[in-house]
Amino acid sequence: MNASALDLLQSVFGYPSFRGQQQAVVEHLSEGGDALVLMPTGGGKSLCYQIPALLRQGTGIVVSPLIALMQDQVDALREAGVSAAYLNSSLGADEQREVERQLLAGELNLLYVAPERLLTPRFLGQLERTEVALFAIDEAHCVSQWGHDFRPEYRELAILHQRFPEVPRIALTATADPRTREEIVERLSLQQARQFVSSFDRPNIGYRVGLRHNAKRQLTEFLQGHEGESGIVYCLSRKKVDNTAEWLAELGVEALPYHAGLDAATRAKNQQRFLREDGVVMVATVAFGMGIDKPDVRFVAHLDLPRSIEGYYQETGRAGRDSLSAEAWMIYGLSDVVTMSQMIAQSESADERKRVERQKLESLLAYAEATGCRRQLLLGTFGESYPGPCGHCDNCIAPPKTWDATVPAQKALSAVYRTGQRFGSGHVIDVLRGEETERVLSLDHHRLSTFGIGAEMDEKQWRSVFRQLLAAGLLEADAEGYGTLRLTTASRAVLSGGQSVKLREDARPERGGRRRRDSKLVTGGSLGIEAYEQSMWDELRALRTQLAKQQGVPPYVVFHDATLLAMLRALPANEDELATISGVGEAKLKRYGRDFLAVINAQE
Ligand code: ADP
Ligand code: ZN
Repeated sequence: MNASALDLLQSVFGYPSFRGQQQAVVEHLSEGGDALVLMPTGGGKSLCYQIPALLRQGTGIVVSPLIALMQDQVDALREAGVSAAYLNSSLGADEQREVERQLLAGELNLLYVAPERLLTPRFLGQLERTEVALFAIDEAHCVSQWGHDFRPEYRELAILHQRFPEVPRIALTATADPRTREEIVERLSLQQARQFVSSFDRPNIGYRVGLRHNAKRQLTEFLQGHEGESGIVYCLSRKKVDNTAEWLAELGVEALPYHAGLDAATRAKNQQRFLREDGVVMVATVAFGMGIDKPDVRFVAHLDLPRSIEGYYQETGRAGRDSLSAEAWMIYGLSDVVTMSQMIAQSESADERKRVERQKLESLLAYAEATGCRRQLLLGTFGESYPGPCGHCDNCIAPPKTWDATVPAQKALSAVYRTGQRFGSGHVIDVLRGEETERVLSLDHHRLSTFGIGAEMDEKQWRSVFRQLLAAGLLEADAEGYGTLRLTTASRAVLSGGQSVKLREDARPERGGRRRRDSKLVTGGSLGIEAYEQSMWDELRALRTQLAKQQGVPPYVVFHDATLLAMLRALPANEDELATISGVGEAKLKRYGRDFLAVINAQE
């Protein structure tokens, strides 16, 4: 069993060895066991059920919530010479019948189906008349009402266990939240399943967070380090998406907008270009990304705070699925906290849910303001203890300077208290700085003992203090979302002098871009393509694009960047050498080997 799983990995998928827990999962499932697999994005979940489906008799049935994702997976499998198909609403009646015929004739190794299709009596009946190798439930967190991708149909998937008790089931998700995990087990009746929990670390992603002072200039500088690369820029509002995409396009960046306010055709067209062309930057709201399986996204930039740490982790996790170097970059400001609090307050959720959302925002803010290793903190929120420092986040690379801000913190807290805990930071700062504004005068706040006690610091410095006090939980924003500040139980220790406060110096200018060898950027910026390699790299990519167009698939379905990069470095002289490159399986060797060898050998 073992040897043949490895054989398949090498001959069909072209990979030399299993990664992480893949082998253990493959063995368990192939022997008929149930499994729950928690692996981060890019961890290699698909092979965990694809290889067992090939090893076992019958067809592997894969439940997947997203049409685009199914199509991609099926394209990739067919490229690798596997008999695969999908059934969803995008097929015409004839196409559907043909797929059903193949299923009943036992001609399919893998069949992807949408959950609503799977649950129809007709389809369940067909399954009873075929041999099912296994059920794979992808994006299993969709059963959880707790998460944001809730799909009611997913809850009914427990029926699979009742109708087909002898068929092994595997549920997979990249959601690390323990609460979601419990819900998956319960809702899908997976109490007996063995759990395979991987580390959620994404070692190839570098993390960087900065304050927003001039978003356009900061983003431009950041993008200079990623010229010609695919990436996603997340914004909070549709309007900001449109504006940002527009001025990026003016700068000559291949930028496209994506948000729920665009018509379906435009959305589909932009998404298609992002998937099928090299180097497109998608500027989007969080409406974009779920089910985007593009492996060579080299960066994810946030121009506003995301909703929660989990959201941030999922969104940044779309970078670097291919394990090559990638970057997660974010800028934010105090105004984000106010906007987010308002959004939470004005939403129609129940109070309990709002309280949870506020907590989530607070822990995200703590992450943004952190002075220690970001990776350690990020993984810590998923209950994973990571022994930092990682050496691959901004705080590890350049530890932020801190200063003793105990006295200013006391002044700030006291001013919040004296003004009645009814105002936002703007007014409280005016009081601290001794500004006789109309509002101050009309409220008689110039008579307070705290009036003018903070004149030694400017407004910007005070804003930084307030932001960090919020992040540290020493102040809280009101639940109603007006941006008014209140003391917390933790504030008292500071006010009484029992606790000192260390804050980070914000003076540290955000350094744009990465260190570069050359001011004129090369297309493979993140990948470290050297100048002398550039023309070969361009030719390999051009050939890939051309072949992908002919087949009507995205370029990465032909070969991943990682595979092209390996070719570039190894310069295989013949088919035998090419076959040893990771990602070159037998089917692809036959189909594309000659073309790629021609490019490589023409140059030498
Ligand atoms: P996930 O679904 O967990 O996000 P995928 O299954 O899409 O991840 O795999 C991520 C990438 O890693 C894919 O491009 C896949 O081809 C590649 N991959 C998976 N397993 C291996 C392996 N054992 N060796 C090399 N590459 C792998
Ligand atoms: Zn770190």
